Amino acid sequence: MIAFDNSYARLPSPFHASVLPQPVARPQLIRFNHALAQDLGLDVEGQGDQALADMFSGNRIPQGANPLAMAYAGHQFGNFVPQLGDGRAILLGEVLDRHGRRRDIQLKGAGPTPFSRNGDGRAALGPVIREYVVSEAMHALGLPTTRALAAVASGQPVRREVALPGAVLTRVAASHIRVGTFQFFAAREDVDSLKALADHVIDRHYPILKDADNRYLALLHAIAERQASLIARWLSIGFIHGVMNTDNVAVSGETIDFGPCAFLDEYNPKKVFSSIDQRGRYAYANQPGIGQWNMARLAECLLPLFDGDEEKTVEDANAALVRFGEVFQTYWLAAFRAKLGLAGTDEGDLALINDFLGLMAAHEADFTLSFRRLGTIAGGRPALDLMPESETLTAWLARWRARLGTDRPADVIEAEMNTVNPALIPRNHRIEEAIASAVYGDYSLFERLTEALQRPYEERAEAADLMLPPSVEERVARTFC
Ligand code: AMP
Ligand code: MG
Ligand code: MG
Repeated sequence: MIAFDNSYARLPSPFHASVLPQPVARPQLIRFNHALAQDLGLDVEGQGDQALADMFSGNRIPQGANPLAMAYAGHQFGNFVPQLGDGRAILLGEVLDRHGRRRDIQLKGAGPTPFSRNGDGRAALGPVIREYVVSEAMHALGLPTTRALAAVASGQPVRREVALPGAVLTRVAASHIRVGTFQFFAAREDVDSLKALADHVIDRHYPILKDADNRYLALLHAIAERQASLIARWLSIGFIHGVMNTDNVAVSGETIDFGPCAFLDEYNPKKVFSSIDQRGRYAYANQPGIGQWNMARLAECLLPLFDGDEEKTVEDANAALVRFGEVFQTYWLAAFRAKLGLAGTDEGDLALINDFLGLMAAHEADFTLSFRRLGTIAGGRPALDLMPESETLTAWLARWRARLGTDRPADVIEAEMNTVNPALIPRNHRIEEAIASAVYGDYSLFERLTEALQRPYEERAEAADLMLPPSVEERVARTFC
């Protein structure tokens, strides 16, 4: 039994298209997230694996579901496409979780929809595995993100360049409303729908703004603040989203759409993994600038809803975008101060952080392990393999120690650093390995990775190999979606 309450389905018809999942040949449960199911208050514990596979492949529609595809538009790599929409995702409905929060339950890869254009509406097993591993790891790392409830093998191939095994992922999100959802109505100059959407978003994600003055401007500020915070946190764990198109920006502030995403191994601010990002638009260090660009697109949509004459609304929108930059900088500094173990603030912190990043870049040092090893040094033990010894490194470490000061015990500083510097991240080569064996029906690596990543801030002997960066032969150059 799932107690659905489908608020998006109750919005007017231009918002969505009803569509039923198309049954798959032989649904087989790969993994079910029981802890998440409990958190959602789903009463599925008595169900066997086959019943779960049937439900979370779309073969059996649970009672109370109202399956639909959401309409949206979006800028893809800077080019506006007025109609995208869920082409391979079907929203089953919404539930109120155990904390009273509204959550979407969506099937990804459950068949074509009215928005599929030339696509088949299906997902290959590889991307399903990647999204499951990475989205659950993001959650364990403490970042706002969509979640993975289930992965089900479809028992039928999907045709890409070659035939690949197919799968369906069940994704859980605060909502699937994107910047592109606003763009869909703005492009049609449908101000009534735009306003209905903005009110729905305020109700659902920003209830505190209900009675705010100029509340749609306040909404722009609030969405921009969550994006600024999110992107600062991405940078702090070395995450590269890979496709920050406006249709992949959730207005809830959750990380969404784990296509060609990747984590940095060696630090390089210009790093790009995505095979479709040929010009490096979505490179690691470009993400804050792109976040601001995406908020500018949102601001354009919301302008007609702001109070005041045209001149004032444009001024207000511009001020919100300037503020995005400032807020991002504040979150970024706070995140990297914590990564270096710094308490309080000091004028020299920005330079101290940037100089460490510069050293890491010069030595192609592993992003994750460098910060973790710095924690070891803060704790008073030698960190093997931090970076090759050099005068610059010695001088930097001396500056850093001086800034750490002597007020806090070494083990306290180390413990604090270890709460923000993960030991384990979903490394690309491990994900590729897990996918390669899953394609042959062996899910053991996928399971091991998923389980180990539930505690990313703890160093554990049994996960020691998963902490290691790739060897030269293991390095993944490109990711695909
Ligand atoms: P994405 O690159 O995953 O953000 O998707 C961009 C757009 O393409 C969205 O509207 C998707 O729904 C659509 N899309 C991606 N893959 C497929 C597919 N296999 N079948 C139908 N639509 C798809
Ligand atoms: Mg997308
Ligand atoms: Mg995608």
